[in-house]
Amino acid sequence: MRFGALEAGGTKMVCAVGTEDGKILDRVSIPTESPEVTMPALCQYFQDKEIAALGIGCFGPIDLDRASATYGHILMTPKLAWRGYDICGYFSEHLKVPVGFDTDVNGSMLGECTWGCAKGLDTAIYVTVGTGVGVGVIAGGKLLHGMQHPEAGHMLIPAREDDPYKGKCPYHGHCLEGLAAGPAIEERWGAKGQALKDRPEVWELEAHYLAYAVTNYIMILSPKKIILGGGVMHQEQLFPQIREKVTQMLGGYLQTKELGAMDDYIVPPSLGDDQGILGALKLGMDALEG
Ligand code: ADP
Ligand code: ZN
Repeated sequence: MRFGALEAGGTKMVCAVGTEDGKILDRVSIPTESPEVTMPALCQYFQDKEIAALGIGCFGPIDLDRASATYGHILMTPKLAWRGYDICGYFSEHLKVPVGFDTDVNGSMLGECTWGCAKGLDTAIYVTVGTGVGVGVIAGGKLLHGMQHPEAGHMLIPAREDDPYKGKCPYHGHCLEGLAAGPAIEERWGAKGQALKDRPEVWELEAHYLAYAVTNYIMILSPKKIILGGGVMHQEQLFPQIREKVTQMLGGYLQTKELGAMDDYIVPPSLGDDQGILGALKLGMDALEG
């Protein structure tokens, strides 16, 4: 059986067709313009692919409450043309197949749980640190939703005493995204993260904020694995620093076999760059099962 997968992002839409064993048979990338331009192009791609269902991992915030009149819509995004857009409804109507829908980070979490390093785990988190910070959560074997979906990238974090930067989030200033996402790094240090590799003070502070948030996620969710992805995490020197700081911040309070094997606990994604599209594929498979 073939399934459609869509990774819906603010700059590009990655469309793919795959099978239930996690094989991608074909994929294309289409730039994200207005819904009027982009949606027909996406439908055209999927139309003749004989897909049994479509899964979408979407930039947010999105409405995931099935009882809501706006289920499947994109909500208050800064991408104005997409605000309030009924993305699920459009595909249901035009492709006439079941549509699975979740956030892009929940999609990546699902991809890692199904075919990657979190396979078989019932509780884990996926954090992406890029243009923003997003967190996908699987808890008790299910993607965590709640009112809508977690927004743990906006967890409030105190600025460190030696950091005068006020934070970039328009809503909170110094939330994790406001302090540690790519644009905050760029504004604080005057250059993009890619160009700051040789500035250890940049990554020491970055590791502090990420470790602070990760420690809180551990306390709240008790995840069995923590996957850190996104452009900023290409700075691989962050991983050992984050592991060390998390261990310090936990203060010996928690002792589990997972925490005893930190190198295998806080890890980069395991599916190359395919965790998002594979997660979308699985969302499609799950939609068919109802
Ligand atoms: P997006 O979040 O838009 O999907 P990315 O995950 O690539 O895309 O995140 C882009 C952000 O990550 C930018 O702010 C960029 O400066 C930063 N970034 C990308 N690559 C690196 C890198 N190698 N080192 C540090 N920061 C990076
Ligand atoms: Zn915020």
